[in-house]
Amino acid sequence: MNSELAIAVNNLSKVYKSSSDIDKLALDNISLAIKKGSIFGLLGPNGAGKSTFINILADLAKKTSGEIKVLNINHDSNLIEAKRLMGIVPQELNIDPFFTPYELLEIQAGLYGIKKKDRKTMEILKMLALEDKAKAYARTLSGGMRRRLLIAKAMVHDPEILILDEPTAGVDVELRSNLWENIHKLNQNGKTIIITTHYLHEAEELCNEIAIINEGKLIAHDTTINIKSFLDKITVIVDYNDNSFDLSGLNELNVEIKIKDRQVQVNYKPSEVNFNEMLNALNSSRSQIKNMRIIETKLEDVFLQLTQK
Ligand code: ADP
Ligand code: MG
Repeated sequence: MNSELAIAVNNLSKVYKSSSDIDKLALDNISLAIKKGSIFGLLGPNGAGKSTFINILADLAKKTSGEIKVLNINHDSNLIEAKRLMGIVPQELNIDPFFTPYELLEIQAGLYGIKKKDRKTMEILKMLALEDKAKAYARTLSGGMRRRLLIAKAMVHDPEILILDEPTAGVDVELRSNLWENIHKLNQNGKTIIITTHYLHEAEELCNEIAIINEGKLIAHDTTINIKSFLDKITVIVDYNDNSFDLSGLNELNVEIKIKDRQVQVNYKPSEVNFNEMLNALNSSRSQIKNMRIIETKLEDVFLQLTQK
């Protein structure tokens, strides 16, 4: 990964004006830098502003204020060029039901002025496992196939950045893992991937960087590993051979201990307690350690803590 930026957003705000209701501040002064080559996850609860963010990039919604650069191209003054660098898959599965996937991609290629000889329609359909459906009417496709068709459509102009808004919503488990494989492949081929999702375990597995937004505000942005360490809590569970263990060494450390028969559970803050010291204390016990496991913080725990304040 290099340090070039795929997307740089500065002080981005969006107000949805309403005549009857009160105005809605959907994005509140967001500044965010997304590195080229990353798989970036934009997370947040329903209504957080994720789609608004994506729709502004896609030019489907107008920002109220702020500045956006796409691979260093200004999104205001060079909008057409900036848009060409991105392939955006919207949240809604809107597909013209009377065209076939093949036709839809050909039409899209035409819109981008791609010459017939340069089109890669079948190659793209194959990549998304839709080659069997190339000539089928779109209305006969399942939800998962439609989602993949929209991804195929977003890839027609070979964009550097692929942006997917809730790509796995309504997609069954099998297709979901197939989708992730495709996303990994695209990323390995150098594409920057940006996804919004509320499936946190997927973001945890797939994304190397994560931003969390809540009520239009950016509340966290870091590597997935660092975000998970945010909770500052680790649990270690040790099974001893017998219950003659001696845990006095742990007394000097700021840890919480729970004992159940031959099993000892230690909760601690990695920022306060050195792992090796804790391990030594557990190990210097008279009883032998039979088994030990570490329970890591889940992204979900961090997410809940950050968004429920
Ligand atoms: P998310 O994608 O994270 O669920 P959205 O970006 O769709 O969130 O919505 C953010 C907020 O803006 C929500 O409160 C939503 O109701 C509001 N909103 C979204 N689109 C519009 C719109 N076109 N007009 C008015 N309010 C909107
Ligand atoms: Mg949304």
